[in-house]
Amino acid sequence: MDPLLLIPGPSPVVPRILQALGRPTISHTSAGLAADFREALDFLKTCVFTTAGEPFLFAGSGTLAMEVALLNVAGKNDRILVLSQGYFGDRMAAIAEAFGLACDVIRSPWGRAVGAAELRTALDSRRYEVVSVTHVDTGTGAAAPIRAYADALAGRDLIWIVDGVCATGGLEERMDDWGIDVILTAAQKCFGAPPGLAVDIFSPRAMTKRRSLASVPAYYSDILRWLPIMHDPRKYFSTHAVNEIRAFAEAARIMAADGMPERLHRQELLARAVRAGFLSLGFGLFTEEEFLAPTLSVVRYPEGIDDAAFRAKYLEAGYAVAGGLGETAGRVFRMGHMGNLTPEEVLGAVRGLGETLNALGLKSDTEAAVSAANAVFKG
Ligand code: PMP
Repeated sequence: MDPLLLIPGPSPVVPRILQALGRPTISHTSAGLAADFREALDFLKTCVFTTAGEPFLFAGSGTLAMEVALLNVAGKNDRILVLSQGYFGDRMAAIAEAFGLACDVIRSPWGRAVGAAELRTALDSRRYEVVSVTHVDTGTGAAAPIRAYADALAGRDLIWIVDGVCATGGLEERMDDWGIDVILTAAQKCFGAPPGLAVDIFSPRAMTKRRSLASVPAYYSDILRWLPIMHDPRKYFSTHAVNEIRAFAEAARIMAADGMPERLHRQELLARAVRAGFLSLGFGLFTEEEFLAPTLSVVRYPEGIDDAAFRAKYLEAGYAVAGGLGETAGRVFRMGHMGNLTPEEVLGAVRGLGETLNALGLKSDTEAAVSAANAVFKG
């Protein structure tokens, strides 16, 4: 039996989506694929509450989506401001550096995010053409205060990129209302689809910025090459990941049927339930309360528990979680709870945590933990 995948992405892929993935490979320019493609693109707009945005979906991972976002809005003389609350903000700065773009970074301590006041100060002190923020950092579990950022950025003549790889579809992102210019994400997290697809959604202002650039240092990643295909998926630019797109369309159907308000609500509930369970077992949270993201938990061990031994035992119990990154390595494990995870699976995971602690010789009350988690679902 494969373990239940509770790493912070990829998320578990439910059988209905796997069946769509396993359907025959059809032509990348067929009417059949175009229909699935359109459904997926329409849902992406619903997902981020935009009517005016242009969604792009192509083979690649979240890192490609980051590169696409940046290269298509940053001119070679532009200055970029990156707000980094951890691992993936730093990656955006590294991408800027790789392309020789001038970039300043404001870093928060891990477990927190940069405040909107710091953003205002930076914007008042220097001209930036692009600001990039990570909505949820998957290394630290911290969500950035993007509504406050929206206020700080309102009325400024710049392009605002949001990395939503660990957020889009699980946390509210109101692209039109909040004035976000590019949202980038990937299939394998809150959508619960298999890895392999990158997503970028561009606002009209971001499209105008792209058109104002004579060229971009990219070929595959140039959104103007993809635009005709997104408007008519029967046209050819580059061969689509046909099966992944069919699977993603199925994931989009599941989410559309639930509706975004329900998805966002359920995401909150899953997080509160699993946290009630593991806190009752004596685990702690690494991320500061005010920044806690609902899509993953960065979990501190109780005294005396060894990281590698714990994760190996928990895996034997049927649950895969990830280790800590950077400064948290060995001190925490990271658990994703995104996508189509069910309350039953969350309760099972909490039970598994209790049993794993017991197997490692720590006396813990598994039933009390499961009850604490269940109480959240029962409201
Ligand atoms: N940004 C964030 C916030 C992420 O969590 C990740 C992946 N965990 C990425 C970017 C990069 O995505 P990928 O691994 O799909 O390239």
